[in-house]
Order: sequence, then C-alpha cells, then structure tokens
Amino acid sequence: MGRRIVKSEAEWREQLTPAQFEVCRRKGTEPAFSGAFWNAKETGTYRCACCGNELFSSAAKYDSGTGWPSFTQPVAPESIRTENDASHGMQRIEVLCARCDAHLGHVFSDGPAPTGQRYCMNSCALELEPADD
Ligand code: FE
Repeated sequence: MGRRIVKSEAEWREQLTPAQFEVCRRKGTEPAFSGAFWNAKETGTYRCACCGNELFSSAAKYDSGTGWPSFTQPVAPESIRTENDASHGMQRIEVLCARCDAHLGHVFSDGPAPTGQRYCMNSCALELEPADD
C-alpha cells in the first residue's frame, strides 16, 4: 500500500474535481446511475482517485442494481478501513481508503457469495486501471 498520504483540504481541493472533493473529502454521495463505473464491465483494478491505492478488482465487481459500483471484497483487507457512520438517521459502515482516508462509500451485509458483503462505492472515488490482456 505504501506510506500514508496526508494532504491539507486546500491541496485536495486543487487536486480533485469538485465532485470528487465533495465525495472523497466531505463524505458526499454521488447520485445513483450517474457515475462512470456503476455499469462498467471492463477488467482491471480500481484504484483510489485521491492517492492511487489499489482498492478493488473487477473480478469482485457485480451488478447490485443500485446504480453504484458494487464489490464483494477489497483487493486486500488492509487496503481499506471502516468506521461506524450514524449520519442521516442511519446506522451504516463507512468505507475509507486506508492510505489517504478518502471516503469511498459504505459496506452492507446484503451482498452475494462468496462474502455476502456489498461494498457500495462512489464511481468518482475510483479510477480504473485496465488489465493488460
Ligand atoms: Fe486513497
């Protein structure tokens, strides 16, 4: 994963698009069916849009029907971290990039096999590195 990335709000604001800043640094949520990846079928590795950390493989991606890119598991347990999120009158588990603390989305326990988990991500928090083959 490499060393942790820590930047000021001003630095993130300069680096990111306004939509990315709102989601990743302010814990926003992009509208369903609006992002680049909810329906993406390409193979490759999804990296953090803020720091490039490897987060998810396309092999773990599935169509959840939610309008957000959804995965059954991260590439490695240590690539992400989670926090309890009691905002908006809900009890949810927030998913963050372990390297730069970017807000990525939430994880729910209604996913398919093999994990039963649904990592519900924001497209704009991710960048897809296409597979070589
Ligand atoms: Fe990151």
